[in-house]
Amino acid sequence: MVDAVSGGVLLRGGRVIDPANSLDGRADVRVREGAIVALGDLAPEPAERVVDVDGLIVAPGLIDVHVHLREPGHEWKETIGTGTAAAAAGGFTRVYCMPNTEPALDSVAALQALKRLTERDAVVAVHPIAAISEGRRGQRPVDYDALATAGAVGFSDDGETTRDVAIMRAALAASRRTNVPVMVHCEEPTLTGGAMHEGDISRELAMPAIPAVAEESIIDRDIALAQFTGGWLHVCHVSTARGSESVARAKAHGVRVTAEVMPHHLAMTDEWVAGRRTNALVNEPRGAPQSVPDPDCKVNPPLRTKQDAASLLDALRAGAIDLVSTDHAPHARTEKQGRSFATAAFGMNGSEFALPILLALVRSGCLTVSDVISYLSAVPARLWGLDAGTLRPGARADIVVCDPEERWTPSADRLVTRSANSPLVGMELQGRVKLTFVGGDERFRDW
Ligand SMILES: [Zn+2]
Repeated sequence: MVDAVSGGVLLRGGRVIDPANSLDGRADVRVREGAIVALGDLAPEPAERVVDVDGLIVAPGLIDVHVHLREPGHEWKETIGTGTAAAAAGGFTRVYCMPNTEPALDSVAALQALKRLTERDAVVAVHPIAAISEGRRGQRPVDYDALATAGAVGFSDDGETTRDVAIMRAALAASRRTNVPVMVHCEEPTLTGGAMHEGDISRELAMPAIPAVAEESIIDRDIALAQFTGGWLHVCHVSTARGSESVARAKAHGVRVTAEVMPHHLAMTDEWVAGRRTNALVNEPRGAPQSVPDPDCKVNPPLRTKQDAASLLDALRAGAIDLVSTDHAPHARTEKQGRSFATAAFGMNGSEFALPILLALVRSGCLTVSDVISYLSAVPARLWGLDAGTLRPGARADIVVCDPEERWTPSADRLVTRSANSPLVGMELQGRVKLTFVGGDERFRDW
């Protein structure tokens, strides 16, 4: 880690993409004392560190509103140190961490303990998402007002759907007061127990499966509650076409609902589980899985059909889905490849793969680079009212520098995360983060 020298840093000659500032063009960026001080055609100043970023993208630091850092309690999968270092390696300068730790983040004391750990170990900004219910058990509500005051940026029992509708009502009613969203994992509890999307492929593999309606029915339930209470509902990891249509309809009716989609649900399908790594949206990368069905393709919500992936992309472009986050869900190798598909843990590495996946969608003509930066930075900053997501002079110097052309092959050694559970491990990707600055300090370098 290299702190910005006192003379500051000049990023020279890059393609600066700042959607919040309606900027996409060649410019130099000057950083001094943790802030962006100038953009434009700038001559180097004495004692300034000049970095030639010609041909590279310079963008506001990315913001991931859905990661699992695993600490406290599951440090063999990831820690705050390794998880935030992986975030920085993926270009993220700010992450929201989910509360499914041990203990769960369900009290002010738990949030304070996390804060002490992040102050010690985190290399990017970390904001906690508190649980909706005590211990995420769905039986007793947490103290929403106290947790919001203590810094919670969301409430979620992620991994589980909160069965108790009265608790959901209370959580959404509180969000109206606190302006902190309820971030829901939508999966009807009586329809779970499967390992992949229910459809032709699950029947081909004779695999227990999770139907799309498990997600869609709870999205509809929670939208009804959001409409009733006036609270802010944020639908996590929308994975089905009909789910995205429900969100679009609710928005059209003025319901305060926002939604996220994960890169893997845009670019991968249930065909991947069967070892057929083809996709309607992205022609690359391809490669042979280690085993079929591939435990690294097991994720919840599951990889859906190519029609779902295409609909999610349409919903994102139309604004029905607001943003992209990763659901970075590290697991030890023994919990994934070491097990059968049916018994492997759910979850996929996300932090270091998001940008390469989305840049593949740019190359296939589905998105622009400006769209990608918007979904990963400007939009979450705007929704949560963060002092972030822009390179405007005066802004905090959270910056990612990325080479959209560089090809690289992720491996357990090359990845910064403690885990390596992604079907993209061992496959050549295009698009590589080169530098990440957090508040002007260099927190990742591949140079
Ligand atoms: Zn979830």
